[in-house]
Amino acid sequence: MPPELPILIVATRNAHKTQEIREIIGDRYKVLDVNDFPNLPTVDETGTTFLENATLKAVAISREVTGLVLSDDSGLEVDALGGAPGVWSSSYGGEEGNHPKNNARLMAVMAGKTNRSARFRCTMVLAEGGEVLADFSGSVEGKILEEPFGAGGFGYDPLFAPEGQERSFAELGSEAKNALSHRGRALAKVAAWLESRG
Ligand code: IMP
Repeated sequence: MPPELPILIVATRNAHKTQEIREIIGDRYKVLDVNDFPNLPTVDETGTTFLENATLKAVAISREVTGLVLSDDSGLEVDALGGAPGVWSSSYGGEEGNHPKNNARLMAVMAGKTNRSARFRCTMVLAEGGEVLADFSGSVEGKILEEPFGAGGFGYDPLFAPEGQERSFAELGSEAKNALSHRGRALAKVAAWLESRG
């Protein structure tokens, strides 16, 4: 029998994030998330930076479960909007986690703007037993498209084309997105850290 994979619990209810993390490191870790554990608390994201929010989530969840916990706090920074929506990306349209509303607002505020440069950022925190072990970040530069393209991915993916590509993250497919994305880049650092720890 092959050896059992070590368990990594992602401190999120966002199944899209978990799915991407699983696609990237699922051959090395059995990736679970808080949806696999009944009665875990909902963590209020009261921080004003990705690191603060990622730390809140990793610490709170790792107090409640046994084993390694990984959090992901991420978002989109648009230069013409002074870095908005940033840490408030998931509720930009007025309703937490409503991606169509978020995209509609982004498209409306970007109408007619010539500076369309933007980036996704992701900060991940590893924690165990309520203590932070380490934090990691990744980002990907790109631009905001005039209208949505593609049906893959989640969130702002239909409106974001990474640098060097004309197609949106939603058109590129998960393998290409994961190879370039803020999440893929942060997670590569997490995996290297875990492997060096043994
Ligand atoms: P969080 O759950 O507070 O980290 O919010 C993350 C939000 O940022 C998501 O709800 C999306 O709006 C946006 N976001 C983060 N990563 C991605 C991505 O890979 N693609 C598209 N949108 C993303």
